[in-house]
Amino acid sequence: MKRYDVIVIGGGPAGLSAAISARRSGADSVLILERDSEPGGILNQCIHNGFGLHTFQEELTGPEYAARFIAQAEELQIPCKLNTMVLDISPSSDGLKTVTAMNRQEGLLRLCANSIVLAMGCRERPRGALNIPGFRPAGIYTAGTAQRLVNMEGFLPGKEVVILGSGDIGLIMARRMTLEGARVKVVAELQPYSGGLQRNIVQCLEDYDIPLKLSHTVVDIHGRDRVTGVTLARVDADGKPIPGTQELIPCDTLLLSCGLLPENELSDKLGVTLSPVTGGPEVNESLETNVPGVFACGNVLHVHDLVDYVSEEAQRAGFYAARHAAACKAAISRKETLSGPDGPAQTADNDITLPLRPEGGIRYTVPQAIRPAHMEETLLVRFRVGAVYTDCAITVWLGNRCLVKMKKTKVVPGEMQQLVLKKADLQDAKASDPIVVKLEEASHGNS
Ligand SMILES: Cc1cc2nc3c(=O)[nH]c(=O)nc-3n(C[C@H](O)[C@H](O)[C@H](O)COP(=O)(O)OP(=O)(O)OC[C@H]3O[C@@H](n4cnc5c(N)ncnc54)[C@H](O)[C@@H]3O)c2cc1C
Repeated sequence: MKRYDVIVIGGGPAGLSAAISARRSGADSVLILERDSEPGGILNQCIHNGFGLHTFQEELTGPEYAARFIAQAEELQIPCKLNTMVLDISPSSDGLKTVTAMNRQEGLLRLCANSIVLAMGCRERPRGALNIPGFRPAGIYTAGTAQRLVNMEGFLPGKEVVILGSGDIGLIMARRMTLEGARVKVVAELQPYSGGLQRNIVQCLEDYDIPLKLSHTVVDIHGRDRVTGVTLARVDADGKPIPGTQELIPCDTLLLSCGLLPENELSDKLGVTLSPVTGGPEVNESLETNVPGVFACGNVLHVHDLVDYVSEEAQRAGFYAARHAAACKAAISRKETLSGPDGPAQTADNDITLPLRPEGGIRYTVPQAIRPAHMEETLLVRFRVGAVYTDCAITVWLGNRCLVKMKKTKVVPGEMQQLVLKKADLQDAKASDPIVVKLEEASHGNS
């Protein structure tokens, strides 16, 4: 069985960045496995600009952004097996992980690695998961499928469009369909706030006079063979349609942009603990899951709004994956038995794990736990809030000591937030002391 230091599952921006970083951090053999016919992931269908503002201080299209990482991977001679679907990852007693994959040329493949990086991205929530009544006519697509049809296959799925869901994909497709000559009649959003970035609301809806109806949903789909219209209704605070508010909107296409689901079937089968909030693996400061040597990054870990954050996070996952592989190899060459993911460092006196506990409006944090002995001098913690808050403060507490306080004029669920923790602040923490990340609000609204 061919053995690698690091195998990366998924060749999107997360997988590419993790592989490049692992190679640059000293991993001798790195392999990317990608089920699509080209690397780049979802970026290949995102032909709009707005990518790379943080990483390259430039506005790139999705394919341009991906191309820069593909070029770096090629320069480093990192092999990428395309059209290769990973079917299973299983751990073995010697600490190696066996990856089972399939492609047309080689058939069933079995490979093994010291470290695995999970970078499988996410998929969209389909109609079947939304419980919308009505027939099942043609003309209902997820926004991402429509994006692929328009941008990659050259088909316009319809002319009169209603979009349900105001996440970034829905907003971007509202603009894209308009530019292609379709009429987007309305974007309806169940929540009292948009799930997308503010810049996308302005650039994709307001600039094109496309109405956004907050606290609205589709309660019926009309048409037997092809969609002929949808009924929208206003919803109450519990998301229930309010009688008497129904409105029929004639249309031939309904695009659904109702949330993304991290693709964690492989992780789940492997025994990785998944967070019920993010749908992604629970990880520590090294982006390592509960399965030693298995790391996660990008949208499979938690849904990101900006690809720059994906690349940065994946770079860290790749670094720690390479370090784990090096520790495994060193231990084998010393004929020692590994005692844990980082070998001897695991046994340090102060090797405690501190859980990060989100409270008061913070939905989740990534990572979910920190081992101070293993963290760098500083650690970036990303998180999202559960509603719209204005004039609030984000604070971090260890016992009654406030480690961080950040004032915010406005935070919204659609925009990922981040804070930095210092290793020095966690030195005298006791085992299982929670680090509490809290939102303290002055006012709480829905706009
Ligand atoms: C419509 C849309 C618009 C966006 N707009 C912007 C924007 O304007 N600016 C911005 O900065 N960001 C934007 N983003 C966000 C950014 O593009 C994503 O966050 C980023 O692409 C996620 O990268 P990823 O590598 O985690 O996932 P993906 O790009 O989804 O890559 C995952 C890869 O894993 C592969 N894979 C999955 N399972 C397997 C398996 N079992 N075996 C082998 N391969 C597998 C998939 O084929 C895929 O190539 C947008 C995203 C979308 C969807």
